[in-house]
Amino acid sequence: MRMHRLLMPAWQLAGRSARDIEFAVMPRRCAFCGVPRRREEPAICAGCVAELPWIAAQCPGCARPLAARPGDGVRCAGCQDRPPPFAAAAAPLAYEFPVDAAIRLFKFHRRLHYATAFGELLCKAAAELPADIDALLPVPLHWLRHGARGFNQAAEICRPLQKASGLPVVSNVSRIRQTRYQSGLGGRERRRNLAGAFAVKGVIGARHVLLIDDVITTGETCSQLARELLSTGVPKVSVLALARA
Ligand SMILES: [Zn+2]
Ligand SMILES: [Zn+2]
Repeated sequence: MRMHRLLMPAWQLAGRSARDIEFAVMPRRCAFCGVPRRREEPAICAGCVAELPWIAAQCPGCARPLAARPGDGVRCAGCQDRPPPFAAAAAPLAYEFPVDAAIRLFKFHRRLHYATAFGELLCKAAAELPADIDALLPVPLHWLRHGARGFNQAAEICRPLQKASGLPVVSNVSRIRQTRYQSGLGGRERRRNLAGAFAVKGVIGARHVLLIDDVITTGETCSQLARELLSTGVPKVSVLALARA
C-alpha cells in the first residue's frame, strides 16, 4: 500500500479537527513506558519497539502466526481447508503482553493516547500490503456499543493511516445487529453470533477495501464483513489489524 506522507507535523494543523489539535498539544510520552518524546519522534520509543511481540512469520491469508516464513503465495493449512475471503491479511503484533494490556486500556478505559502509537504501527504494516488498496473501512461498532464506549477503537487507530495514505474511508457500512462479545464462544457459535451483523447502504465504489480492526481473534468478524462487501460487488477485501490472537 502506498503511503503518501508520514504523520502530520504539529505546524501543519491549521484547519484540523479539535481532536487533532488536542493530540498535538498534549505532552507526548512513549505509549508503553512513558518516557517523554519529542513531537517529531515516533510515539513509541526504540526500546519499547524492540520489546514488542512482533510476529516474525504469518499466513498471508489469515495473519495467523507461523513457525517459519511461508513461500510466496503459500497459505496455512486452515486457509487451505476453509479459504478466508481476504486478498491479504496482516497483523504486526501478537496479542500478548504488553500489547493485550495496552489494547484493553485503550478500549475499555479510554486511554486514547494509544491511538497515535497504534496508528503508527499500522502505517508501517500497511506499507507491506497490496498497492491496489483504494479505500479503508474501520470495522463498525453497533451504535449501542459505540454510544456506551464513546468511540470506535478501529476508527481511532485508522485515523493516522488515513492521513498517511490519503485513502478515503468507506462510510456506508454499519453494524445492524448488536452481537454478544465473541470471547468464550466456539467457532460455530461465533459465526452464528455474527450472521447478518453488517449492512451496506448503497454502493461502495472502491475496488479493494482494507478492513481495519484492533485485534483479529478467530477472524470471524472481519470474514463476515468481508463477505458482506464481496456480495455487494466489491472485487477485493483485505484486512489489517494491530494484533493477532
Ligand atoms: Zn517506551
Ligand atoms: Zn491462513
